[in-house]
Amino acid sequence: MRNHILITGGAGFVGSHLTDRLLKEGRSVTILDNLSTGRRSNVQQLQAASHGRLRFVEGCATDSDLVHRLASDSDGVVHLAAAVGVRLVVEKPIHTMHTNIGATEVVLEAASAANVPLLYASTSEVYGKSATLPFTENADLVLGPTSIARWGYAASKATGEWMALAYGAERELDVTIVRLFNTVGPRQRGRYGMVLPNFVRAALAGEALRVFGDGQQTRCFAHVRDVTCALGALLDEPAARGSVFNVGNDQEISILSLAQRVIEIAGSDSEIELVPYAEAYGHGFEDMRRRVPSLAALEAAIGFRPRTGLDEIITDLIGVLAAK
Ligand code: UDP
Repeated sequence: MRNHILITGGAGFVGSHLTDRLLKEGRSVTILDNLSTGRRSNVQQLQAASHGRLRFVEGCATDSDLVHRLASDSDGVVHLAAAVGVRLVVEKPIHTMHTNIGATEVVLEAASAANVPLLYASTSEVYGKSATLPFTENADLVLGPTSIARWGYAASKATGEWMALAYGAERELDVTIVRLFNTVGPRQRGRYGMVLPNFVRAALAGEALRVFGDGQQTRCFAHVRDVTCALGALLDEPAARGSVFNVGNDQEISILSLAQRVIEIAGSDSEIELVPYAEAYGHGFEDMRRRVPSLAALEAAIGFRPRTGLDEIITDLIGVLAAK
């Protein structure tokens, strides 16, 4: 087992849950986070309970000296620091490209210099508008035009994958790539677009659930607990090196049905409002109609199957947000 893991973006939603898991497995964790979208409060309790096994460093993953120093102190790196969330990506395209490509290069250099394995967190966005379902890791990526900011995010993460694989090929860096599909759970914020926290919050407040487009677009939602379970297992799986894995859940649901399900489970009398994409994200926005992962490669590598069904995910989130 790798004992000391550096997690860039460790104070974010996925990062804080991964930190929690790795600490529970008995490992030490150093978090590097600039708190741009991550929050100190996400990891404060973990720090108190970690008996010195969690170190928090406030800083940027683009800071080469710092990242080199931290990587050389670790047995492995998980690179999660990135601009995420469709709203953030559309509103701040320069920040998105700079963070996603710039930081990835720094982290790859540092992991390579320190000769430690790297787990690179990519995204299901890289499949873009592909209509060949379920998405398999070797399938073609189908991105839209450069005039649409959303595809810049997908391209930046796909570039990160190519960079990671290049370091694997040329520098013999141990890299594993994960494409995270829609992941939900406690600590996720709706501020940058994510649909489920927004729906749950609206349902609890008796406000309308705003479904973008016609609501027939589909997604598959995984509980963050399942996702971090897969990431933890991949860290220790030498056979996973050099490969790309979809990580998520394969239970598909339309966004309209999701809204209905949230209202039903919350016992809410909220209504559903259909909102044109242009109103939600501005003109020239494109969405993908369906997004479903094939989990066959992941299952073959680490025997992973998601355990948490959608109703349980929604119930969990309602419990967390109702308690706030
Ligand atoms: N969406 C919605 N209402 C919201 C936020 C998102 O209808 O308040 C839709 C969005 O257009 C997309 C889906 O829900 O079709 C998932 O959006 P999210 O931003 O959570 O993730 P994505 O899969 O787009 O990265």
